[in-house]
Amino acid sequence: MSKTAMIEDSVYLIDTRFWTIGVAAYLVGEGKSALIETGSAKSYKNVLYELKQVGANLDQIICVAVTHIYLDHAGATGYLVRELPNARVYVHPRGLKHLADSSRLMENARKAVPESLEEFGEMIPVDRSRLVEATNGLRIELGRSALTILESLGHARHHIVLYKNRLRALFAGDAVGMYTPEADVLIPSTPPPDFDLEKSVSTAGRIASLNPEIICYTHYGFSRDADEMLRRFKEVLREWDDLIKPVWESTQSLEKAVDVVMSHYSSESERVNEYRSSWDLRAETELNVSGYFHYYERMEQASQR
Ligand SMILES: [Zn+2]
Repeated sequence: MSKTAMIEDSVYLIDTRFWTIGVAAYLVGEGKSALIETGSAKSYKNVLYELKQVGANLDQIICVAVTHIYLDHAGATGYLVRELPNARVYVHPRGLKHLADSSRLMENARKAVPESLEEFGEMIPVDRSRLVEATNGLRIELGRSALTILESLGHARHHIVLYKNRLRALFAGDAVGMYTPEADVLIPSTPPPDFDLEKSVSTAGRIASLNPEIICYTHYGFSRDADEMLRRFKEVLREWDDLIKPVWESTQSLEKAVDVVMSHYSSESERVNEYRSSWDLRAETELNVSGYFHYYERMEQASQR
């Protein structure tokens, strides 16, 4: 069932209907408005359908912002902008060239996650003239409100979050984890090759200093208890570090590290499975644990230089 819903005055969760992991986009603003995240390439028709369901005027969407360029967040951008004639696309400066020419992105995905490509679909490029560098602090004026960009590294080297002052709502992408509100379970999103533990912790601190009230997660829903969620995010990052690092140091066995994490969080996993039965939590955990492994290897190499 679609989760599309108004979550606040002039803020809608738009369900992209990518239900294996759950991918939300957000429509923000009255009149001139912004679409945050676009979902996977294969979801674009769902996004258009859901936008129409909530009464969005496509001509009034002046901003499409992607928190980063991974296929589940930015995959549909090229398709959607064909239907949104007045939208400009905001993306981190390091991600911009990959939206203008998505061939390298697709090639990397073919190598990294070949089994998922069928599910995500093929990206198409965005005309260079419509792309805007989303630099730290940039303000995007909408109808009666504005969004501010905050660079937020850690999950990826090209990640941004967006903040809506008046509502104190933060659109977090993958910067501060993945949340299943029905089960109240927060897990890290720490895939290779970019995950950086210390940058993630410092990003959570910078976000907390904005004093948000609501956090809108791309995966998959929102919380009105932002303080507590940011505290929990930092805690769970450190817990994973405490669980994974000894395994990496002693055996470097990814499988064993995944077992350790899964068994530590078995009750949370069961709760998540109740609500997200199509989500392969072990595969997700393996991806995130391998992000930690990759991070430790990078740190070790850097210290030997
Ligand atoms: Zn994601």
